[in-house]
Amino acid sequence: MEKSCEEIRAEAEGLLAFLKKSPTCYHAVAAAEELLPGFTRLEEGEKWQLVPGGRYYVTRNRSSLIAFILPTGRLEAWQLTASHSDSPTFKVKENAEVTVRGKYVQLDTERYGGLILGSWVDRPLSVAGRVMVRDGAGLHSRLVCVDRDLCVIPNVAIHMNRQINEGYKYQPHIDLYPLWGGGDAAGSFRRVIAEAAGVAEDAICGTDLFLYSRTPGAVWGPQGEFLSAGRLDDLECVYAALRAIAASESAEHHANVACVFDNEEVGSTTKQGANSTFLEDVLRRISLGCGLDAEEHLAALAGSFMLSADNAHAMHPNHPEFSDPNNCAFMNEGVVVKYNANQKYTTDAVSRAVFGEICAAAGVPVQHYANRSDMAGGGTLGNISGTHVSINTVDIGLAQLAMHSCYETAGTRDLGWMIDAMRAFHARPVRRLRDGEYSL
Ligand code: ZN
Repeated sequence: MEKSCEEIRAEAEGLLAFLKKSPTCYHAVAAAEELLPGFTRLEEGEKWQLVPGGRYYVTRNRSSLIAFILPTGRLEAWQLTASHSDSPTFKVKENAEVTVRGKYVQLDTERYGGLILGSWVDRPLSVAGRVMVRDGAGLHSRLVCVDRDLCVIPNVAIHMNRQINEGYKYQPHIDLYPLWGGGDAAGSFRRVIAEAAGVAEDAICGTDLFLYSRTPGAVWGPQGEFLSAGRLDDLECVYAALRAIAASESAEHHANVACVFDNEEVGSTTKQGANSTFLEDVLRRISLGCGLDAEEHLAALAGSFMLSADNAHAMHPNHPEFSDPNNCAFMNEGVVVKYNANQKYTTDAVSRAVFGEICAAAGVPVQHYANRSDMAGGGTLGNISGTHVSINTVDIGLAQLAMHSCYETAGTRDLGWMIDAMRAFHARPVRRLRDGEYSL
């Protein structure tokens, strides 16, 4: 069903509010919890008491999250979405301050993921993440976000670098340290972080701190066609998946699951990434909680289906030649299905057919994307997760520009279509009859 301009705008504003609350993966998971009212928090280190029709979520490292809704009847399959909580940024090193000639204090940072380096220069930045805090009762995680303009990575003036417009190569160890303060700011970094965390400086005993861009997200274009913000890849899909599962009811025989994984941008090989046992462990515990035996668990896995949702490249207006002319995506034209012959994306005839049916019934337009035949694209969650929990999966996303810039651009109409597609997926049993055959 066609949405009104007001509905589209409201959905975009909802996403921008989520992005504002989510300067890092830890904040994204905390903001995700807010989008799951009525879901009970489980701890991995405790025994779970699951009830039919129950709504639950569990976090790992407080940077990955799996939410699920149990069926009212016998568990026969899972219908899952997967997206990622992390985005390319700079991580602040343990010894954070560097002084220059006694006149400047910079922050010592290193790259996290594949950033577009130049997008971080000459704009207000700040610091957010989590700190470990010691108190009388032990060690505790605490979110921290310094909510003010705090540092800038300054370009070199063109008079000192006449070649900058000829294709300048930024050296992270030289060009990209943010300026934090004057010489008298030495020793202030930990104090500012402690103040923002609301603890004494010497109570902080561990940090995972990152830079984030202070530039606010915006809806723009003559008809509000576009929205720009940091971290659209992949918090746009995270937001859609959480909105969809929160609005979903219990099914009769399948559990609905929304997975949000950390560390996709650095290969997923962490204890909480898609290449970990997190999903495998959670699904096994759901099976145990629902009374399935080992064989029934494997049969349920075989009957399951996943939407791996990570944003896709829209054709660039200045460089249409970078896209395959025949399999390219545009903003505001629907959910993108991604294909790759070498299986960087999981989509195959089976999963494309199943997803196509769901979208057609839900009135969601679909576009089809493959890289130019001489370009290697990035990988994503589906094929990595599939090495642990092998489930028929379709790789999808929303078309966007400037992926991995700290200010990315997407289409405002597409977000609602992704939510609709995921809701329709959760509502409708994808019943596997036998290998390669479904009843829908
Ligand atoms: Zn991504």
